[in-house]
Amino acid sequence: MEMLLNSTARGADPASLAALYQGIAMQSSSLHEYMCPQCGYINAIAGSEICNMYLAQYANCYSCDTKLEIVPADGMNEMINLVISEADEEALFR
Ligand SMILES: [Zn+2]
Repeated sequence: MEMLLNSTARGADPASLAALYQGIAMQSSSLHEYMCPQCGYINAIAGSEICNMYLAQYANCYSCDTKLEIVPADGMNEMINLVISEADEEALFR
């Protein structure tokens, strides 16, 4: 299951990612914001998009298009902390 989810996310093309962002924009009540470590742009992911705690998800920064790895982790008061890092580009495209 982990393998399947990861390969699906990595195979997403920019068009489908743009559609994903539009879907997120309509669900403003459950947005989780995270800052791009590359350019500092504040991206957002919907709570409904986070389905696997502690399992990395991938998204492109909306501003600089850097591929980001997002790992949801439990925070305080039932909040979700998002741990963001740059995905390994060479591994992704090899
Ligand atoms: Zn960025």
